[in-house]
Amino acid sequence: MATLTLRNICKAYGAVEVIKGIDLDVDDREFVVFVGPSGCGKSTLLRMVAGLERITSGDLLIDGQRANDVDASRRGLAMVFQSYALYPHMTVAENMAFSLKINGASAADRAAKVQEAARILQLGPLLERRPKELSGGQRQRVAIGRAIVRSPKAFLFDEPLSNLDAALRVNMRLELMRLHESLRATMIYVTHDQTEAMTMADKIVVLNAGRVEQIGSPLALYNRPANLFVAGFIGSPRMNFLDATVEACDATGVDVRFAGGQSVRVPAVGNALAPGERVTLGIRPEALRLADGPLRGEVRIVEQLGSLTILHVEIAPGVVLVVQAEGGSPVAIHAAVGLAFDPAACHLFNADGKALRPAACQTEPSRAH
Ligand code: ADP
Ligand code: MG
Repeated sequence: MATLTLRNICKAYGAVEVIKGIDLDVDDREFVVFVGPSGCGKSTLLRMVAGLERITSGDLLIDGQRANDVDASRRGLAMVFQSYALYPHMTVAENMAFSLKINGASAADRAAKVQEAARILQLGPLLERRPKELSGGQRQRVAIGRAIVRSPKAFLFDEPLSNLDAALRVNMRLELMRLHESLRATMIYVTHDQTEAMTMADKIVVLNAGRVEQIGSPLALYNRPANLFVAGFIGSPRMNFLDATVEACDATGVDVRFAGGQSVRVPAVGNALAPGERVTLGIRPEALRLADGPLRGEVRIVEQLGSLTILHVEIAPGVVLVVQAEGGSPVAIHAAVGLAFDPAACHLFNADGKALRPAACQTEPSRAH
């Protein structure tokens, strides 16, 4: 059982601020994912929670108690690293039992906990091997086993799957989801991979340059990104962005005109916009259809994935839209195509990159920062 609360957490290395005031509540048994590009501060934030890095300012509460000055070993949290960090001279069983031994657990207690972790992770037949006799995926399972035996209040994972090949990553992702389900433990998981974030998280925290861009469920972030950064980061293939100009607006919608193109009416709150203002229209590849519509262009690239076809359509010199069509599309390279979309599925961003929402969505609970 554990809740974690971060209040205005900051981290500076000398004069360089790398974490710039983060507020977050992690509920008991929640699976929270920190996602963001490399260097945005994910590891630093996780290491402050773990107690491996001093918190420059702000408060960390574990189960409601301030924990800033509590030693890492006394926080009751277990961290799993990308690098596995196993002891090479110890067997799998010894690696998993090591922290229990340090803490004075009896041999019988150690053996029982190692057996239970080995059962959960299907490591039974490997208990007497040494790390060098294991595959990457097996090593990572041992590293997770080492965390499980400690029965931590919460698990902290820092890009644990990044060293694995693509197929194994998908397998381990499913294993971690099963683990979360069976242990019913609080977990914080750090990744730069939006697919991992989308598939695993109860709650995603999108980080950028040491700040929170948005916190919400995977679908809240996908359906209602608060800004251009989140819109471009969550969803694959990435959302298309088109420069446009506001022609007219009222309380129910905005008429926008693409550069050199037609205009469409987007049901967004237009009160904050003025005619002539520059905006960005966001359309997800899966929201575009090959049909007569306000956009036309030439197919430049066709990516056949079997169940899907990804088309790259140039609608103006240098302006390419990515279109995701179901199944194997017969459209060939260089074909001239029309693109249609439901204006209600569009996203509109003002010149500051902030999303403008239809009135009905304004009170929804996704937290924007
Ligand atoms: P991420 O895990 O998101 O890739 P990090 O948390 O590792 O990012 O790093 C965030 C920023 O903090 C980076 O710009 C990095 O260079 C900087 N940083 C990390 N550790 C140190 C350190 N010990 N001294 C100075 N800067 C650091
Ligand atoms: Mg990192």
